[in-house]
Amino acid sequence: MTFSRREFLTSTATATAGAALGSVPALAAEAPGHKAALPVVIASSNGIRGVKVAWDRIVAGEDTLDAIIAGVNIQELDPDDQSVGLGGLPNADGVVQLDASCMHGPTRRAGSVGCLEDIATPSLVAKAIMDYTDHIMLVGDDARKFAIQMGFKTQNLLTEKSRQDWLRWKARLNPGDAWLNHDDDVKIKFTTGTINMNAVNAGGDVSSVTTTSGMAWKVPGRVGDSPIIGAGQYCDNTVGAAGSTGRGEANIKVCGAFLAVEQMRMGKSPEQALLHVVERVIAMTEKRLLGDNGRPLFDLDFYAIHKDGRFAGVSCYEGGTFAVCDSAGPRVMTSAYLYKASERPRR
Ligand code: ASP
Repeated sequence: MTFSRREFLTSTATATAGAALGSVPALAAEAPGHKAALPVVIASSNGIRGVKVAWDRIVAGEDTLDAIIAGVNIQELDPDDQSVGLGGLPNADGVVQLDASCMHGPTRRAGSVGCLEDIATPSLVAKAIMDYTDHIMLVGDDARKFAIQMGFKTQNLLTEKSRQDWLRWKARLNPGDAWLNHDDDVKIKFTTGTINMNAVNAGGDVSSVTTTSGMAWKVPGRVGDSPIIGAGQYCDNTVGAAGSTGRGEANIKVCGAFLAVEQMRMGKSPEQALLHVVERVIAMTEKRLLGDNGRPLFDLDFYAIHKDGRFAGVSCYEGGTFAVCDSAGPRVMTSAYLYKASERPRR
């Protein structure tokens, strides 16, 4: 069962009002949350196939980071997933530019790649940067060159479906421009989408990875939160891991994944840690991105796993989901949230 923060506070207030003489101890109690026997793998809901692959590999003894990267590779290589890798929606110039990062808890290492073109598996490029260089982050053409030197194959990542979506977006960009609108009935997506995956094995080792084609139609060269260590994902082997999907610009400003792990370190459950992160996001949001009711105009989802097997997904708005796999098998679960769906402002 999940609660919004306010429902939780309301129920806590009702239950404790007498004992506390009317004062509500802020977050004195914990929402119930979820807990699994180890190992456990969680991901954004598009990782429903990947969490099973990763879990099977971890049970077979594979390293947690290798296992979750194999999990996200499924989406990266799936031409029908328009939010990641091959088939990802392109930038404003029609070029697919990918971001990814990963962290390996037991060895305390990290790798990251931004604005990578022509290589479908940026998660593996991020890991190669981690494994083979003294650096953490490479970007753009030089990241591409590095990947080719490491043996990665180049390919055109723009599928026909994504190219058609880009053309429709371009045609509708500005009614006064020189592009003719060929399709009045088609709604143009302004999508976000990404895959984040985190795992803990039976020995309590933790890893995390996030990979994305970023915000659709972004300004060329834009780097989102996914390759930013501490924003798109973060892991600390002594605590757990967290990651995010959704509007990267909102997450970067609060270093959301790092903040979540730090909140867990201070004793919060994964769910309470993530609710705190989303509250910080809202507090840091500029006015133009808030509706008249003060609620955000964007979506942002977080996922967190504690090394003891507790885990959670939290979204700005009711309706979010995430994927999990433990010995009970893979399933999609409902995320906790800060605001009811009815509070979402109309654009
Ligand atoms: N977080 C990604 C980014 O901002 C996009 C997404 O998850 O939808 O690049």
